[in-house]
Amino acid sequence: MEERYFEITRENLKKFVDSLISGGSEVIAPRDRDGDTFYGKIANFDEANLDMLLPKMSYKEFLLPKTEILFEYSLFGTETEIKDGLEYARGANKKRVIFGGRPCDGAAGRIMEKVFNWDYKDEFFNERFKDLAIISIACEKPDNYCFCMDIELSPESSYGSDILLKKDGGKYFATVTDEKGMALITPCMNLFKEISRDKMPAPKDWKKSFDIEKTKEFLDKNFEHKYFQERFLSCIGCGICTYACPTCHCFDIQDEGGCKEGRRIRNWDSCQFSIFTLHASGHNPRVTQGDRYRQRLMHKFKIYSEKFNKYLCVGCGRCSRNCPEDIDIREIAKDLADME
Ligand code: SF4
Ligand code: SF4
Repeated sequence: MEERYFEITRENLKKFVDSLISGGSEVIAPRDRDGDTFYGKIANFDEANLDMLLPKMSYKEFLLPKTEILFEYSLFGTETEIKDGLEYARGANKKRVIFGGRPCDGAAGRIMEKVFNWDYKDEFFNERFKDLAIISIACEKPDNYCFCMDIELSPESSYGSDILLKKDGGKYFATVTDEKGMALITPCMNLFKEISRDKMPAPKDWKKSFDIEKTKEFLDKNFEHKYFQERFLSCIGCGICTYACPTCHCFDIQDEGGCKEGRRIRNWDSCQFSIFTLHASGHNPRVTQGDRYRQRLMHKFKIYSEKFNKYLCVGCGRCSRNCPEDIDIREIAKDLADME
């Protein structure tokens, strides 16, 4: 569908979100908890924190839970009962709305969707993603860790969001990008005023700080470069960079239980863990933390873009903000671009 444009006051935005909740939607928004801000279910609009830049973790867990059951089995005498874990995925995502995240997070689901529908269609991911609606809010001021503008997005990009809100002059301007967005606002059309595109606030001129194509060109030619071994000596392999990331999606599959009952589960994993690529023989092809962080860079800025024509990174800066060793992926991507 062609994009459509609307104005909405803050008071009406509150009524809109509260009506989504009272209409049975599960609204997930940035909300304060334990001295920080995380995505979580809100009971009303006022529980959302729309003033902070980004929640500490992304909303990835609502698409790819930290742990999910793929199937469960129970034995009754000689009979075996199997319960398909897809039922949990189907039940989880009816009318779920991610509200008040930023454009980088809005883009992340659509980027991850590509790998989950490549050689194998991951029904678990797809069940959660197909009905999920995303209402993002454009950023007014990125921080020093943000680099969405260097990676084909911007603080006001609507890519991946069904609705993008932009605050301007005390009210919000909404870009509705698709039918999913229209389905959300149609029951509350009295709260919105449709306007023409030329009445929307003009986009700002966001400056790039480096050329990500040059980062990729460096990675294309310099797999063995000493930079990787030297730069990541301080990395302790904690993996929080990958867990906080909205686009990292590595997982491991485990069986647990016994001969009477049990289950197969899928858990988040991380390429930054030393045993991630440990073979049964004892051989590990990624010996050092430099090998492991190089893999992360290769996957994000080379391999994924070659396969899916998108970088596996939205420039949110979460990995850098959360890193206990202050390893900043924006600085690293820029270093590599400058060395090319
Ligand atoms: S968060 Fe920092 S220290 Fe931890 S694995 Fe990632 S880069 Fe290494
Ligand atoms: S790699 Fe870092 S900056 Fe890129 S999407 Fe993941 S957390 Fe955000």
